[in-house]
This record gives sequence, C-alpha cells and structure tokens, in this order.
Amino acid sequence: RSANAAEEHLRALERKGYIEMLPGVREVVRVTQPYKLANRAFKAEDTLVRFSNGVVIGGQEIVVAAGPCAVESAGQIETIAAAVAQLGARILRGGAFKPRSSPYSFQGLGEPGLHMMREAADRHGLLVVSEIMDASQLPLMLPLVDILQVGARNMQNYHMLRALGTVSKPVLLKRGLSATIEELLLAAEYIMDGGNHDVILCERGIRTFETATRNTMDIAALPVIKKLSHLPVFADPSQGTGRRDQVAPMARAAVAAGGDGLLIEVHHDPERALSDGAQSLYIPQFEQLMAELRV
Ligand code: PEP
Ligand code: MN
Repeated sequence: RSANAAEEHLRALERKGYIEMLPGVREVVRVTQPYKLANRAFKAEDTLVRFSNGVVIGGQEIVVAAGPCAVESAGQIETIAAAVAQLGARILRGGAFKPRSSPYSFQGLGEPGLHMMREAADRHGLLVVSEIMDASQLPLMLPLVDILQVGARNMQNYHMLRALGTVSKPVLLKRGLSATIEELLLAAEYIMDGGNHDVILCERGIRTFETATRNTMDIAALPVIKKLSHLPVFADPSQGTGRRDQVAPMARAAVAAGGDGLLIEVHHDPERALSDGAQSLYIPQFEQLMAELRV
C-alpha cells in the first residue's frame, strides 16, 4: 500500500510540473482541503469587509454589533439603539424573523420589525444586521439591512447559502449547533462560490455534553479559523453561554483569541424581553464591557 501511495504522489508531482510549464500558469497549488475560496492557502491576506460609512470588519478595529435578541417594538429598538451607539457599537443587531425552538414562542415582528430597526439604526449612525431565514426574504431584506445573518440552524441551508452568493451585501454566517469548523468553512464556500466574498464567520457555541452553559463557547475555534481562513471571525458569547454573567468574560476571551468583532445581546429591560432575556446584558453591563474591550 505504501508503494502505491508513493507512486501516486510521484504521479501527482509529475502532473503538477507539467501543468506549471503550460503558458499562462504562474503556480500550481494542490488542493488538500475541500474549500478553496475561504482558504488562507490561496489568499494569505485578511479579508476586509468595508461599509460605506467607513466601518471595516477584519482590520485593526474590534467591531461590536449589539442589540436585542429580537425587535419587539419601535420604542424598544430605539431605546437600545441610542444606548449602544453612544457606547461605541457600530452595528445594531436584532431579529425580525426568529428561528425559535418552539413554534409557540415569539416568532419576531417580521417586516414591520425590519423597518423599525432600520429607522432606529439610521437615527444613530448604526449599520443593521438581521437574520434571514429563507431565500424568499431576500427582496424584502436587501434594502433594509447592511449584513444578512445566517443563523446557526440554517448554516447548512445550502439553497439559501447559494442565494446569498448572488447578492452584494455581506453575510454573517453562524456556526451550526453541531457543525465542525470544516463544515462552517464549506458553508462559507457555498456563498463565496456564487461570487459574494464578503463573508463574516461567527462562533456562537456548540452542543456538547456540558449543561452548565446553554452552549459550549468554542474559543479555540477563533485562532483555528484565523489560521485556516482569511475571512473575518466574530464571536457571539450571548448564544454561546446563555447567561449574562458569562457574556463579558467570553467576549474578552474572544477578543484575546483574535476575534475581529462581537455580537452581543443587550436589552434595556431584559426581565421583560420576549426572547433570550437571561443572556441579554443590561445597558450598564454593556457599558462596562465596552470599557474593558477598549483596554
Ligand atoms: C441570535 O443571534 O439571536 C440567534 C438566533 O443566533 P443563533 O442562530 O446563533 O442561535
Ligand atoms: Mn438570541
């Protein structure tokens, strides 16, 4: 068997040498990983995702997206947008379409929620990130959001990933609940293969045997992904831990581990939040976290 493997290797080297001599070929790189466009081996420099208001994701600045789990009312999103903008967030997060585990839980406000969020974000100079749950929502969402969020439950919705490959808005791609890093990078590849290279990856905790936290925040995924891929990587310690007392330590850890930005759930009244109140920071807690992140 090893003789066969050695022979196969020699044949491959021969093919590589032959192709390298063809006119117009500068270099031949053997693909050993199944994803190519997302792979750092093919593009050494970090991908920068740029926005018209000057925000750059993947560069020197740690970009913070903050806001409620879900848009609940015009007043709620306005209060939270004003607070997080003043404290240094650059992006307003909030779901209008919520993928809830139970069909009886609050499902989001839908289209009116997107409009409320856009208006609040514009009043405070924030970009908007919101989750898309189906490719059919693209015509509605494209004019209203700056970043399309693919939720953990949809990371392997390949039909939607293909559709996102054809648009010219950045995509925040969350790691699936039980997805390997390779599967995450392959999901990014689906989007990039369609021509949209503005993909921001996001570690948001994975399912393990541990029950002390809602998910297990895989901080190690950040340096691993940074090594394998040139794409920017965010961390979401809110879904990652499910507990507001664990959000700040994991946010700091994610930045120390090389994360390019954070997605943080913040609510002015978490006790009355319609979703994920237990993991939402109070505004003063967010203020303290931002001060710590600056250090
Ligand atoms: C969210 O960001 O509120 C959310 C639903 O995230 P995830 O898809 O990571 O569970
Ligand atoms: Mn949430």
